[in-house]
Amino acid sequence: MRSATDAGHGPGALDPEVTVEDWPLTAADLDPYHDRVERLLEVAGGAASGGRELPGALAPTAWTTRMAGAARRRGWTPFAAPAALRGDALAPPAAGSVSDELLAAAVSSGAVEVRSEATALEVLVDGDRVRGVRYRRAGRTLEQRARAVVLAASVFENVRLLLLSRSPAFPAGLANGSGQVGRHFMAHSVLLVHGLFAGEDLGRASGTPAQATAIADFDGDAFDHRGLGFVGGSLLQAAMTGPTAPGGGPLATAPPPGIRPGTPAARRWAADHGRSVGSVWAQPEQLPRAGHRLDLDPAHADPLGRPVLRVTHGLAVDDRRRAAFLAARMGEWLREAGAARVWTAPLVPQPLGTHLYGGARMGDDPATSVVDADGIAHGRDDLAIVGSSTFPTTGGRGPTQTIEALAWRTAERLAARLGGDGAARPQRASWTTSPPTTVTSARPSRQASGGSRSGSTSSATRSPT
Ligand SMILES: Cc1cc2nc3c(=O)[nH]c(=O)nc-3n(C[C@H](O)[C@H](O)[C@H](O)COP(=O)(O)OP(=O)(O)OC[C@H]3O[C@@H](n4cnc5c(N)ncnc54)[C@H](O)[C@@H]3O)c2cc1C
Repeated sequence: MRSATDAGHGPGALDPEVTVEDWPLTAADLDPYHDRVERLLEVAGGAASGGRELPGALAPTAWTTRMAGAARRRGWTPFAAPAALRGDALAPPAAGSVSDELLAAAVSSGAVEVRSEATALEVLVDGDRVRGVRYRRAGRTLEQRARAVVLAASVFENVRLLLLSRSPAFPAGLANGSGQVGRHFMAHSVLLVHGLFAGEDLGRASGTPAQATAIADFDGDAFDHRGLGFVGGSLLQAAMTGPTAPGGGPLATAPPPGIRPGTPAARRWAADHGRSVGSVWAQPEQLPRAGHRLDLDPAHADPLGRPVLRVTHGLAVDDRRRAAFLAARMGEWLREAGAARVWTAPLVPQPLGTHLYGGARMGDDPATSVVDADGIAHGRDDLAIVGSSTFPTTGGRGPTQTIEALAWRTAERLAARLGGDGAARPQRASWTTSPPTTVTSARPSRQASGGSRSGSTSSATRSPT
């Protein structure tokens, strides 16, 4: 992104506080892995970023059809938002999940053993070589030896585990020789614009949030940014809310201006008009900044006495400009569909939210990144990191499919570096139900690749590189 922005807008376009760098991978490097993930999880829907139409999209609804028509009238290109048809989002609670299914397949391959209900405490080293993991289970502290360790504990715990893994060879934490661990932290904010379609019942609660019409006309570099004072954008989605969609409806978010949220008046307004409110949502991308970071909290510890993670984050001027620009387009979309009144919910930073990024980013330069293009710590073959902690940028879409694609690639690359063929493929297993599990160790030399958790990929999209 750094070089594309410099080329498109001139070298001074980015605020000096912005620490963004290029991904060390191209879309062509990742596309084969995205394709595998899409086949494995049966992702369906319209063109994501590669332009491939994925068969079997979720059924359109009156709301998504209406919004698709409105987008076309404005000259935009609507498509059914990609969604994983095999996933937690659509499975009834008793039916298990993709993560259960993949885990079961990995275990039945004989290459993986699961230690459930365990918490990894630190990565152990012998001198400068990784030798395993110390973990806590059933009140006991145990050690698992390993030739290599893959950290897959999501952004906060990946970073915390690296920082807690101190030793004489790594006094500032593992893979932190350049002081990069915890830096370049980013989070999507949630931007919602509501429209009142007075007197109409839009029926939005009769579907799942994965049933959405999306447009990518204001995502990434798809539009002219000259004079706007920001780069990037977001996918915009008009979704069904589903009865329990987080943040998905006027009851849970903002009533129109003039009515205070959470008051009896707001509840009355929602009861009278909630069915007539249509919404468009965005997850505007955010750039990494020097002041936004994760580190160990000097004042607070967890019950085991280990420092918790401290999160330093906020919204910058370009975040507010990006959101204002997108909100204006979202309002135009709703008005085109017939909304008589449109308002924007307050933009709030989401540093503890659902889409977090960075802290152990990938790059070509060890001075500005933690892992290389394979997701393996620079100069090592015994420590890999998967998850969006390695992302150099957020993109304006959900992270999970790219997490899965990268995890698959990292598994192959690590296996190859350790002398395996790196060609293992997840096997299909029948849907299973099992208690929640936490994987703390695997034998990487024979590990089944692609075992990342799918999450509830209600919007399974490729993040731009
Ligand atoms: C409500 C919600 C909705 C979302 N919707 C979407 C969406 O529509 N599209 C999308 O792309 N993304 C979505 N996301 C984000 C998505 O869930 C994450 O991107 C994805 O789960 C990240 O995968 P991961 O494997 O890296 O981390 P996780 O799924 O968080 O898995 C990390 C695992 O590590 C375990 N762990 C953590 N610390 C330790 C430790 N010290 N020791 C042992 N185990 C540990 C955790 O218990 C967990 O099982 C959503 C998230 C939420 C919460």
